[in-house]
Amino acid sequence: MSTCLSTPADTSAARAFRDRIIIRDEIDRYLRDGDFIDEARIETALKEAVNPDPARVRDILAKSLAIETLLPEETAVLLQVTDPELRREMETAALAIKHKVYDNRIVTFAPMYISSYCVNRCRYCGFSADNHRQRRRCLTMDEIRAEAAAMCGRDGHKRVMAVYGEHPMTGAEFIAESLQAIYSVEVRTRRGKTSVRRVNVNAAPLPIDDLRIVQKGGIGTFQVFQETYHRRTYAAMHPADTIKGDYDWRVTCMHRAFDAGIDDVGLGVLFGLADWKFEVMGLLMHSRELERFVNIGPHTISVPRLHPASGSDISRHTPAPFTDEDFVHALTVLRLSVPYTGLILTARESAALRDRCVGLGITQMDASTRIGVGAYSDAPVGQEIDKQQFMLGDNRTLEELICDLARRGIITSFCTAGYRCGRTGGCIMDALKTGKEGKFCKVNAVLTFREWLDDFASPEALKICEPVLQSELDAIREQLPKFYPTVKEHYDRIVAGERDLFF
Ligand code: SF4
Repeated sequence: MSTCLSTPADTSAARAFRDRIIIRDEIDRYLRDGDFIDEARIETALKEAVNPDPARVRDILAKSLAIETLLPEETAVLLQVTDPELRREMETAALAIKHKVYDNRIVTFAPMYISSYCVNRCRYCGFSADNHRQRRRCLTMDEIRAEAAAMCGRDGHKRVMAVYGEHPMTGAEFIAESLQAIYSVEVRTRRGKTSVRRVNVNAAPLPIDDLRIVQKGGIGTFQVFQETYHRRTYAAMHPADTIKGDYDWRVTCMHRAFDAGIDDVGLGVLFGLADWKFEVMGLLMHSRELERFVNIGPHTISVPRLHPASGSDISRHTPAPFTDEDFVHALTVLRLSVPYTGLILTARESAALRDRCVGLGITQMDASTRIGVGAYSDAPVGQEIDKQQFMLGDNRTLEELICDLARRGIITSFCTAGYRCGRTGGCIMDALKTGKEGKFCKVNAVLTFREWLDDFASPEALKICEPVLQSELDAIREQLPKFYPTVKEHYDRIVAGERDLFF
């Protein structure tokens, strides 16, 4: 049994853990040319972009539509647009870009919380070591397998985001073993069999050697949120004597990931901590830095907002208030600024807001979401604030979300092919920027959606979803006539009960 470091009384053990994790040279080597989150440049760009000329805004939109990453000064111009009509033009361009890069599909996933033990004391988080109300748990490998079986067997999830606090109990070896445990589960369905086919990881920054261990475990996307790019706010939210209190260790974690061989990474901030325009600029600068470093930008950007959490006053009194309108504009600007990236909008937000944001170019949504540790295999009990990191806003089941999307003519995709076919890193970047990946997206969405409909959909859902599937199949016949016969042959094999076919 590992030592529990989840309370402040454990300070000497926590200090030893911090000293083992943070390797100064693995920060300094990436910051030799200075801080790539240039606060002065952000402030100046935002100040100079107030009241932008509409002609300049349209020039920038043309650059976004050509799938080029924007400069900070260009993103600042878009952030400062207030004219409602111009904002609508931006939203239309954002959706057009999404269709060009990712086609007419939303990818679904579900988070799996593996452990709520954490040595850090982030002031907005229910898992903070300072929160004695939190009832903590770390899953065993058997329990992890049970969670995987529940997620893929009950709802039909194929893509999981495994979430870990920062703690010696959940170090690199544990993460790698837990990934293998999830992949090992196979469940019979009414017409075939299913399994989790891609496990992304949301975990703390790790040293390079530890990241190599996680990489060998079969990680999909490695996701680490900076929470806030604003240094002063960061220092106020993360006590300096914690691992997370080291801004530079966190902001360089993706550099270490690339050097460890993980070439698929996801960025994010926790909106509501600092000024939202500053955070969008920070995300852009981080993306540009990764492009400079390895020519590979983030595969995804996540946009969580601060939500009520157990034991956290700050989570109930947002330090930097952020309206739904601001949120919509931030998402639009992100889609336009880093046009190739996937945008993840989670069930923290309400169903109404998520539905609205589907029209702005988001690419991934979770559903049937449970964020208690072990919550998928436990009997459903609703949300319990002292057993989870924060409270959710959208409690739709996967089938309900899929039907809502289908009513709007959008297909749900369970595709995990890119990662398994080696379309990651620089390869996926090129495919996304040139629109080639969008073709794979369309085809694999059709194949995986057929599979899900046959295995999991209720009669009512089938009625709602079949027309979308057929119209996507028709579009493939029209747009890819030479490829269509092969696609149709795969499609028919799935109808006959074969599983996991993809391009
Ligand atoms: S935000 Fe993450 S690092 Fe901070 S206390 Fe919560 S789980 Fe730990």
